[in-house]
Order: sequence, then C-alpha cells, then structure tokens
Amino acid sequence: MNMRSIRVLLLAATAVALSGCAIHIAAPADKAPPPAAITTPAPVATPKPGPEDDPRLLATLYMQQAEELRRLSKQAYALATSRLPAALKQPGSSALEQTDGGTGKPPAAIFDVDETVLDNSPQQARAILSGTRHFDLSRWDQWVGERAASPMPGAVDFVKELRRNKVRVVFITNRECRPRPVNPGDPCPQHADTLANLNAVGLGPVAPEDLLLKGQNGWPSDKAPRRQEVIRTHRIVMSLGDQFSDMMTVTRQDDSAARARIAAEHEDLWNSRWIIIPNPTYGQWVDVLPEPISGSLRTK
Ligand SMILES: [Mg+2]
Repeated sequence: MNMRSIRVLLLAATAVALSGCAIHIAAPADKAPPPAAITTPAPVATPKPGPEDDPRLLATLYMQQAEELRRLSKQAYALATSRLPAALKQPGSSALEQTDGGTGKPPAAIFDVDETVLDNSPQQARAILSGTRHFDLSRWDQWVGERAASPMPGAVDFVKELRRNKVRVVFITNRECRPRPVNPGDPCPQHADTLANLNAVGLGPVAPEDLLLKGQNGWPSDKAPRRQEVIRTHRIVMSLGDQFSDMMTVTRQDDSAARARIAAEHEDLWNSRWIIIPNPTYGQWVDVLPEPISGSLRTK
C-alpha cells in the first residue's frame, strides 16, 4: 500500500467517525466542488434587430452604392434610345390594350415613376435606419412631399431624346392621391409634388395632364385604364418601368411561375418596345413569394 492509498483510507475512516452513518469518501478539501448554490439564470438579452439585420439592407445599398446598378440603369436607357427609331417607324403599340396598333395617331411613351425615373432609395434607407420594417404610408407621403428624389441614371437623357422626336412623354404612377390634414381641400397634393420633383431633376417640362396618379379620376392600381386614356389620342410606342405590371396587367394571384409564362408570351415586345429598369429593393417579384420567403431559395 502506498502513501496515497493510506491517506485515502484515513480520510474514509475519519468520514465514518464524523458522520456516524453513511460511508462516503470525501475528496481532499482543495478539490471539493463548490456548494450547489440555488441561482436564477440571468435572462439572456435578445439583441434588438438593427439595420444590419434588415432584409432590405443589401438591396438598398446596391441601389445607392453599386456602380453596377448605375451602369445597368444607363444601359437600359441606352437600349431604349437605340430602339426608339424602329419603335417610331414600325407599326404597332407597346400597350396590349391598343389592339388596333394606334395607326395614324401621334406617338407617346409611357413611363412608370418610382424606381423607373425617380430613385426613392433614401426613403428606404430611412426606414432601415429607423427600424420601420413595414411600408409606412405616412413616412412615404412625407418623402413624396419633400420632392427630393433624384433621377435614375440615364432617364433624363432618354426623355430629352423623346421630346426631340416629338414623342409625348406620359408618366403613369401608383403614387396615390390622398388629402393631407394640412390642406384637406386638396384631393391630390401628391400630383403637384411629383410634378415638381420630375421637373426639378430635368425630366420636364411635364404637363399636368401627362402625370396620371392612382386615385385620380378613380383610377385603380391596375394601370390599364390609364393606358386606355392615353390610347384614345396617341400610339404608345414604348413602355418603361421597373415592374412587369408597368407594361401589362399582372394580378397578385400570378406567382413566379405564372409571371414567367406570361412574360414569355410577349418576347417580341421585350425585344422591341418594353424596357425594364433594375430594382432589387421591392416589387411584385418578391410580393408573390410565399412566406417565409427563404422557402423560395433554390439550392440547385
Ligand atoms: Mg416603379
């Protein structure tokens, strides 16, 4: 028996003597575990989601910081410019509603406004920084009232080219008419704001009748009735927008696969009269995805 074993036995005997009942072998004092304390675990603080966690962050930075986005927008407008002579010369219309082709009528081009000719990414940036995760109509309307959106790259030059060619430029936007408490008598202050913004950045002069808002004359979100309004007097030679629905009626029931099928039915127009401006920040393309949208990620 070595010294270590003798020491263990002595400790055991001492323990028996002291306890008088249960036999147990105590560990040396310097190795004894600390007494079990009854403690309440400190609550784990859940970090508050910040701008870095906002799902819109990358897309908004891409809009604001990527030279690639600027080039894409300029290229889209350069393509529109190069297609314009043929669009004017060839018979036909870019509006599906203009089934007679508009022969004999003077030419018009139809533009969407937001993320087509005006860049509203500062408003989105404010929403990210303030932690506002969902669309806030009052904040949006405040932004519209500031008349501070800058033009999308390439838009001003193309609009000038259209005017040089005596093409009527019509803006059809889903900016919505809503009276403001400060002036409840004005049914559509957004019209004057948008007109001023377009003119301030060089997209004008825009005549009031060439800017058609949602809610004006009872017009709905679907832009078809407003296209019909233009068709009455003009042949629509080109359509430009950041959304599929700027070109033609697409319902919210149309999922991604349906949108692809519908788009494929109009290859001729995509290749001649329809121009899409890139917008990664929002749109029907994401609205139609089922929640959670991560379920729509492809891994193959
Ligand atoms: Mg738009």
